[in-house]
Amino acid sequence: MIVVKFGGTSVGSAESIRNVVGVVKAGLVRKPFVVVSAVSGVTDMLIAAARKAVDRKSPVPAIVKEVEVKHRPIIEALGLDANLVSGELAELEHVLFGVSLIGELTARTTDYVVSFGERMSSKIVAAFAGASGINARAFNAYDLGMITDANFGNAEVLPAAYPAIAEAVKGIPAGVIPIVTGFIGKTLEGEVTTLGRGGSDYTAAIYGAALGAEEIQIWTDVDGVMSADPKIIPDARTVDVVSFEEASELAYFGAKVLHPKTILPAMSREIPVRVLNTFNPAGKGTLILKTVNTKNAVTAITCKKNIYVINVNSARMLLAYGFLHHVFKLFDEFNVPVDLIATSEVNVSVTVERKFDISRLVERLKEFADVTVLSDRASISVVGSGIRSTPGVGGRIFSTLGKRGINVEMTSQSYSVVNESIVVREERLTEAVQALHDEFFGAAATAAIVATARAKSGKLRA
Ligand code: ADP
Ligand code: ASP
Ligand code: MG
Repeated sequence: MIVVKFGGTSVGSAESIRNVVGVVKAGLVRKPFVVVSAVSGVTDMLIAAARKAVDRKSPVPAIVKEVEVKHRPIIEALGLDANLVSGELAELEHVLFGVSLIGELTARTTDYVVSFGERMSSKIVAAFAGASGINARAFNAYDLGMITDANFGNAEVLPAAYPAIAEAVKGIPAGVIPIVTGFIGKTLEGEVTTLGRGGSDYTAAIYGAALGAEEIQIWTDVDGVMSADPKIIPDARTVDVVSFEEASELAYFGAKVLHPKTILPAMSREIPVRVLNTFNPAGKGTLILKTVNTKNAVTAITCKKNIYVINVNSARMLLAYGFLHHVFKLFDEFNVPVDLIATSEVNVSVTVERKFDISRLVERLKEFADVTVLSDRASISVVGSGIRSTPGVGGRIFSTLGKRGINVEMTSQSYSVVNESIVVREERLTEAVQALHDEFFGAAATAAIVATARAKSGKLRA
C-alpha cells in the first residue's frame, strides 16, 4: 500500500478535487491510504473565527457563515449532498457560542475549532470519490490511532500511536479506501489536538511508517522539491532525487513544501517519499531516499524570513566555563528553539523564529550578559550532501554576495556539512537568494558540472 497526501491547494476547489480523485483512481492498484489537508485558507479562517468569537466583534452565525461559504460552492460544483458538512458547521457554531459566552480562548479550544477544516475536507473528498465509483470512506485520524500529547497547537505523536494505528486500520473493511484528516489527533483523554501548521505531511509520514507503506507521496502545488522556492526564484528547477538528510535540512530551514517532521518517520523505516504535483500528475516529481548520488554539490537553497538574531556577549565570563550552559539552559527553560548557532568564547549568536515570545528569555540573559536582538534579518541555507566533498562552497557564497555588497552577518555550518547557513538583512533576501541560485544553478554552474562529469567518465574509460 501507499500513503498519498493532498495539501490545501490540492483540495482547494472543485476542479482540484477532481484532479485528486483522478490521482487516487489511477493509483488504486497500489491500495492508497489517503490523507488530506483542509481546503486552502480554511485553517487561517478558523483561527480567525475563534479570535472573532472571543472578541465578540461579529455575531457567531456570521462567522460560521464565512466558513460555510468557503465550502458550499465546492460541494455544489461537485454535485454532492448540500448538507454534507451541516453537522460539522452546527458543531462549530456550538463551540464558537461557547467561546464567545465564556470570553476565553485556550490553545485547547483553538485546536478543536481548527480541526473542523480537515474534518470537512475529508468528507468532501470521500463523498466525491464515492460518487466517482471509488469505495471511499472518510475517517478522522483520531479514530484511526492518531494519539498525541497535550501540547495543543504543536502536539507530538505518542509512540503508542504506531501500534494503535496498525490495529485501528486492520478494522477497515477490505477494499475500502480511507480518506483521512491530516494535521489533527487526540490526546489519550480524548481532547482534539493539532500537529503544528503544515502538519498534514507529518500525518502522512506517521501513517506510512505505522503501516509499513511502500511509498509516501506528498501531492502539492509545485513539481516537487525545487532548487529554491519558486515563489521567490522563478527559474527554480525540480530536483530529481534528494536524500532524507537533505530533505530534513531543507524543510527545517524553510522549504515549506515539506513539514520539518515529515522525514523522520519515513527514515526510521526507510520508506521512500515522493513529492508530486496534483496539477501536473504526469510529472516525475522528486524522490526522497536514504542515499543519493548527485553530481551537484548543492541540492537546493532555502531561506527563512521572520527570524530574530540574538547576540549574547559576556566579557565577564571570559575563561569561566559554563557560559554556553548558562545561555542554553535559559532557551530550554523558556521553550525557545534555536535554529542557527555561532559561538566564540564569550559570545554566542543564535537565530530564532519570530513566532516565539523571547521577551522573558532576553530579560534573564541580560542578568549576566550584554544582549542585542535584531529583528530585520533572514537566514539562507545552502543545502547539499555534496558540499562535504566539494571544497570552496563557503567561499563561493561569500564572494557571490560580496560582489553585490550584501553583508553576511552570521554564518553557521555543522561538522556533517550538508548545509551552509548565513544571515543577511531581510531587505536583501530575494536578491541574495537569486544571486546564490545563479551561482550554483545558473548556466555557468551547469556547464561546469557537465564538464567535470565528462572528464571523470573520460578518465574511467582511459
Ligand atoms: P500544501 O498545501 O500542498 O501542503 P504548501 O504551501 O505547504 O503546500 O507547500 C508548497 C509550497 O512550498 C510551494 O507552493 C512553494 O512555494 C513552497 N516552497 C518553498 N520552498 C520550496 C522548495 N525548495 N521546493 C518546492 N516548493 C517550495
Ligand atoms: N491545514 C493545516 C494548515 O494549514 C495543515 C496542513 O495544511 O498541512 O496548517
Ligand atoms: Mg504544506
